[in-house]
Amino acid sequence: MSTAKTGWVVIVGLGPGDEALVTQEVRDALAEATDIVGYIPYVKRIPARPGLTLHATDNRVELERATHALEMAAAGKRVVVVSSGDPGVFAMASAVFEALEAGDPAWLDLDLRVLPGITAMLAAAAQIGAPLGHDFAAINLSDNLKPWDLIETRLRAAGEAGFAMAFYNPRSKSRPHQFARALDILREACGAETLISFARDVTKPTQSITTVTLGQATPEMADMRTMVVVGNRDTRRIGRHVYTPRSVE
Ligand code: SAH
Repeated sequence: MSTAKTGWVVIVGLGPGDEALVTQEVRDALAEATDIVGYIPYVKRIPARPGLTLHATDNRVELERATHALEMAAAGKRVVVVSSGDPGVFAMASAVFEALEAGDPAWLDLDLRVLPGITAMLAAAAQIGAPLGHDFAAINLSDNLKPWDLIETRLRAAGEAGFAMAFYNPRSKSRPHQFARALDILREACGAETLISFARDVTKPTQSITTVTLGQATPEMADMRTMVVVGNRDTRRIGRHVYTPRSVE
């Protein structure tokens, strides 16, 4: 008897770190899985149990990882692909669809689902207050998958259009000068008085939140464990909170 029909692949988000922020449907998928696929630190969050195989891989092999997940599902395995936060936000869901597009046409019949998670941007915003209460743009500052010129163009356009902004992957050791450049562009496009928050290790015991003006911000305030949230011109402090009014005149 073939077991191929019972295989599935579910792409999930584990949230920003706190286990209380993993949704119930993600817990259920993890409980039924035979195989977990993902980047090493995210797979580490899944407790080992009999009947479960953990496939942890390096961050640079997203497409191979996605193809492996589809192959295993086609062979009858119940595969969960894990990302942090939400799987559709700068994460594995798109990689799995790319692998699907490039792969065996029979994979189109696979039982494939994407389950949302709480993305770092929303977890960070909640800790800061309500900085994203009006229109905003989410931008990945890594130039691994797009040219840096395009990032500069989008930053300037979003700032000049009055969007609040949330930045993922703001500053890596391999390209520290780029975040300094990003801050220069933001000061020009948004004004030096605009508030900027640095939310590091959100919902983890090591969490720290710092809010300053763009004029006061320095590149060292961000690293790859930080979500950076820039307000619009109306974003303001109220006590220890930061919020953006819902209306603009
Ligand atoms: N899919 C993930 C994002 C992956 S990109 C999500 O939806 O959250 C990785 C970037 O997300 C990091 O460089 C950092 O900017 C941000 N990030 C993820 N978890 C975080 C956390 N707990 N605190 C602060 N930033 C976080």
